Amino acid sequence: MKRRKWMICLLVLAVALGLCGCGQNNAVSAAEPLMLPVEPIRPVKTERKQLIGEKESMIEYAAPLAYVLAYPHMSNEEINNQILDFVQGLKGAFAEQYDVKDEKEKRRLTQKDCDKFLYLDYDSYVVSEDKVCIVFYETQELGQDVLPVERVHIFHFDTNTGQRIVEKDIRKDGFLEAASAYTIQYFTQNEPYKDRIFGDYKTTLAPDAGRFERFALNSEGVIFYFDRYDIFPGSLGRVDLLIPYSELPGLLNGVGVEAPPVAEEEETEPIQPIEKPEREIDPDKPMVALTFDDGPKPAQTERILDALEKYGVVATFFDLGSLVEAYPDTVKRELELGCEVGSHSYSHKNFNTLSEEAIAEDVKKTEEAFRNTIGVEPTVFRPPYGNCNDFVKEHIPLAMVTWSVDTLDWKSKDPDAIMKVIRSQGDLDGKVILMHGIYETSAEATEELVPYLLKQGYQLVTVSEMAQYKHGEQLEAGKLYGYSYFQ
Ligand code: ZN
Repeated sequence: MKRRKWMICLLVLAVALGLCGCGQNNAVSAAEPLMLPVEPIRPVKTERKQLIGEKESMIEYAAPLAYVLAYPHMSNEEINNQILDFVQGLKGAFAEQYDVKDEKEKRRLTQKDCDKFLYLDYDSYVVSEDKVCIVFYETQELGQDVLPVERVHIFHFDTNTGQRIVEKDIRKDGFLEAASAYTIQYFTQNEPYKDRIFGDYKTTLAPDAGRFERFALNSEGVIFYFDRYDIFPGSLGRVDLLIPYSELPGLLNGVGVEAPPVAEEEETEPIQPIEKPEREIDPDKPMVALTFDDGPKPAQTERILDALEKYGVVATFFDLGSLVEAYPDTVKRELELGCEVGSHSYSHKNFNTLSEEAIAEDVKKTEEAFRNTIGVEPTVFRPPYGNCNDFVKEHIPLAMVTWSVDTLDWKSKDPDAIMKVIRSQGDLDGKVILMHGIYETSAEATEELVPYLLKQGYQLVTVSEMAQYKHGEQLEAGKLYGYSYFQ
């Protein structure tokens, strides 16, 4: 009897876990409904680093598709062309497969209708004096209940010629055998792998089984990538294994003999928060809040800042943590002009599909980026795509702010069309206007929009000031301020 009760308890627990996991988590739990709770284990990974090249970032909405692509810009044009070809190729293939073919239907869609996402992130390494390695991580999110598609793309380049080097020309005889032996030994002896590796791993990890042909090189060794479900349960995600060069002596052509020194990260002084200039706001006069998402993107954001500065007004910038790190000077200028800088997440993921751990990790990374760059953490958050379901609301420790007027600037890319949306709104008092700080056309529209609003008698305020002066309250962490609030 006792035993039966236990069985029922376990069954109930398993079902409950399976159900909770489905909606909110990424599809790991859906694919493994019978697995008991998985403690958050971080697979051993080499430090994620973008050691070379300037970070380029491209966010593009083409509802129902959205692209969030980061890639390095190198000093060698030959290499850049190959990187761009690769990025455009990925985009093209994604659109080909998933875009809505009906033009009329496509025109009707807004940013909130984005439901297929292509993400690209990267690591870039110095391998040796004349070789670099770029590893791209592609993720396709195709829906709430579909497992994301994840792929690793590896490029090695000769920095003198700009030519791509293929892995086949780097490895020597005996490399596959040595890599296989090391990997089997590592995974069968170390946590958290040794009890999780799938049954017939010796066959899967045999030298000729195709797992060791592709690899990335950095200054320390050779990195192999094992896809989710390849040799471990999906809960471990993709597993990266670095084999130090010393374990593969004489098995590589022209690399790994002596690793070049890795540039030490400079010690930085703690950042002093930037003081906000004094401004006077009349709570009885009409006010409107301009907001710019997805930046900073220096050229366009600076042009917007020029327009704000010219008229002595402010806006709110919802910046991405990854770009705050890349372009600190632009963010500092936003603050110096008295603008509010909020978080738009670290890398623009669709939060409605993230797990609790993934949300927490994104929040932490963004806080760090802000703290290390401008000395303060963000207090307001605009969810990417405006996607903010109850689960997200519960787990974001910031005030969440969406908008009440969507200029559709990302779609029209036309200053006149943007102004037309604004003029058609009627009374704008208390409203929050959504724009994007990464398009030339949005910057151009701002130059017209600011004097227009001032002429109409509006004060330009930040979103926090709007809450304070229009509603007499401070924005509160964990609450969503959306369309109905900013009316
Ligand atoms: Zn955005």
